[in-house]
Amino acid sequence: MALPNGQVAPGIGQLPTANPSVLPAIASPLLMSELNLILVGPPGAGKGTQADRLRKDHDLPYYSTGDILRAAVKEGSPLGKEAGDYMKRGDLVPDEVMCEVIMERVDGEEAAGGFLLDGFPRTVRQAEVLSDRLDARGRDLTAALLIDAPDEEVIKRLSGRRVCAENQHTYHLLFNPPKREGVCDRDGSPLLQRDDDREETVAYRLRVFHDQTKPLIEWYESKGLLRHFDGSRAPDEVHQRISAALAELEEAA
Ligand code: AMP
Repeated sequence: MALPNGQVAPGIGQLPTANPSVLPAIASPLLMSELNLILVGPPGAGKGTQADRLRKDHDLPYYSTGDILRAAVKEGSPLGKEAGDYMKRGDLVPDEVMCEVIMERVDGEEAAGGFLLDGFPRTVRQAEVLSDRLDARGRDLTAALLIDAPDEEVIKRLSGRRVCAENQHTYHLLFNPPKREGVCDRDGSPLLQRDDDREETVAYRLRVFHDQTKPLIEWYESKGLLRHFDGSRAPDEVHQRISAALAELEEAA
């Protein structure tokens, strides 16, 4: 994990390469390996919530393909123009486009000491491209964190989700309503429903998840990289379980 001073912060997979008896109390930065994580799971399972915590816990650069694409659509950039229609329908944007978007970031200076990806990879093809790229750079994926939730739960969560127009602050009509109906508590901007959170589109996104992303989960499982978490539990509990799993990986490294 790169710090502003160029050192590497403690993280997963400390690999002692020198005589351990001469190690300082805080292990030498050179002995640390990277924390390279991806979050996988159906829409609405709580990946974003857990990502917020993980990136703070481990000071990781965070790349959410959904956020990157929505910003591109809002800006009207060439990427946004290419992706907008797929997103509205709830279809996946083509692999080549997504791989280019993410490889640029994974290879960037900011992610040199580790990264957290949310929403990528979504297909086996995307996972292969990521894996080949990391291999070529002598890097490894630490784990694929699957946050799962039953379809009914996802539909309930996403169809009640509202997002503020200005800063994408998130609310839920039942579980986390704003103080004033239809208005963001934090910046006063109107609350909107994302096009792809409408009930019929959510059902379609879930179908896409089952068809295209489930094989990806099996792919990571076969490589021993998958860690499974129940996203229908309270966010604090999911966070604790993820932290415990990461600590275990660190111990095993
Ligand atoms: P999300 O916010 O992650 O649910 O993403 C919103 C939409 O962006 C998805 O329904 C897709 O249309 C598109 N998208 C995000 N990530 C990817 C990806 N890795 N591959 C293809 N499409 C993606």
